[in-house]
Amino acid sequence: MQNLYRQLPSVDAVLQRLDDATDISALPRTLVRGLVNDFLDSCRDDIRNGRVTEPASLTLDALAPALTAFVRAGARPHFRRVLNATGVVIHTNLGRSILAPEASVAVAEACAHYSNLEFDLATGERGSRYSHVEDLLCRLTGAEAALVVNNNAAAVLIVLETLAKGGEVPVSRGQLVEIGGSFRIPEIMAKSGATLVEVGATNRTHLRDYERVINESTSALLRVHTSNFRIVGFTSDVPTSELAELGHRHGLPVIEDLGSGSLYRFPSGELDEPTVQSVVAAGVDVVTFSGDKVLGGPQAGIIVGRKEHIARIKANPMNRAMRIDKMTLAALEATLRLYLDMDDAPRRVPTLRMISASAQELKPRAARLRRRLQRELGDAADFALIPGQSRVGGGSFPERDLPTTLVRIVPTTDIAPEALRHALLDTNPPLVARTQDDALCLDPRTIDDAEFSMVASALAQAFARLAHGGN
Ligand SMILES: *Cc1c(COP(=O)(O)O)cnc(C)c1O
Repeated sequence: MQNLYRQLPSVDAVLQRLDDATDISALPRTLVRGLVNDFLDSCRDDIRNGRVTEPASLTLDALAPALTAFVRAGARPHFRRVLNATGVVIHTNLGRSILAPEASVAVAEACAHYSNLEFDLATGERGSRYSHVEDLLCRLTGAEAALVVNNNAAAVLIVLETLAKGGEVPVSRGQLVEIGGSFRIPEIMAKSGATLVEVGATNRTHLRDYERVINESTSALLRVHTSNFRIVGFTSDVPTSELAELGHRHGLPVIEDLGSGSLYRFPSGELDEPTVQSVVAAGVDVVTFSGDKVLGGPQAGIIVGRKEHIARIKANPMNRAMRIDKMTLAALEATLRLYLDMDDAPRRVPTLRMISASAQELKPRAARLRRRLQRELGDAADFALIPGQSRVGGGSFPERDLPTTLVRIVPTTDIAPEALRHALLDTNPPLVARTQDDALCLDPRTIDDAEFSMVASALAQAFARLAHGGN
């Protein structure tokens, strides 16, 4: 074993060899040296654990391919672009919504230059960072006032902390949801200092259930969009307007956590979710929703509602701890401006465009992708078109499958679909796809036409890797 350790090349010998690769020689020296040390440490581990027993496999020549791959992988940025072939439009793990070009440009501009972030150009005095989007939000939603914080979880927390702390808040048992990433209504409620009062049953809650528990300690009524699940069968729920009316009769603010909060009304029958406007119009006093779900903007928690309540939320010291940065503001304003022309929004906001893409539209796109892959990679796999389902995702529109056409990939050699899926995660850029019916499937809904060449290249890289015995 001692002989094996001695067989390992020295760090300096390795560094010298790596200098032959121009991309590696351009990297910071300390970074490369650190990565080489890590690599040699893992070789020593392999010797210690008996995974390596052949001296010949420890020479510089033998180690070089794995070593260069390790250094390249360790040196590239960790946070990277990926290709989303899953067909899940608002994929939380893949960054939820992608921004419209207008919003990306606005972000770049806000980052690269000084701006009037908190500077009133009319007076030359200090201004408010929220002024850039408040009027737009009011115009689009019909609300009197608006505020934006870091995400919708923060929005719900600050709203409850401001309006309901120290009091009781009745919530329907059918709405005590957990959204992915550990957002749970009972826990947020506890953190806000308000006391949750469960009303009704899981499947049915009536107005009288709320009426029964309202007393002098009640501080607000809360409605929560059930987002990622649906109760079916023998169900009933109190309509928003009736709950709002009940709250007002008792002088209580009525809050709704809308989750996705769409400003765009999808053609009826397609995705019949309430819009933010309709919830405001139904009389809800404070509505919260995410910026990066169906809205298609940056991560943000948007709060709209009555002036008196919004003013108190703005004044809450917590607001300072949740304030959004200038890049978010730039992206949000640019995204909201696209909604000023509501008929055009589904064409210009990528999230809306991908959700709205029809089966008739997706089929020829899938065919184009298939032809391209067939042409470039026809020896490596069979490519076929099959009907499939995409998802809106992001905990919105539960169980709502959108019809699509998938490109089904079956390798000609005996490569397992899961092995192919894994190999695609290590391509440049990585391609995230799903396996279904023992094949790898690509959904054109979430791939742009301009990305088709990158999809082909990622597949070529993965097949090459798998053919050389990698995994
Ligand atoms: C998604 C969601 C949240 C959390 O929103 P984030 O923007 O992810 O913080 C809260 N409530 C509901 C109903 C949701 O759907």
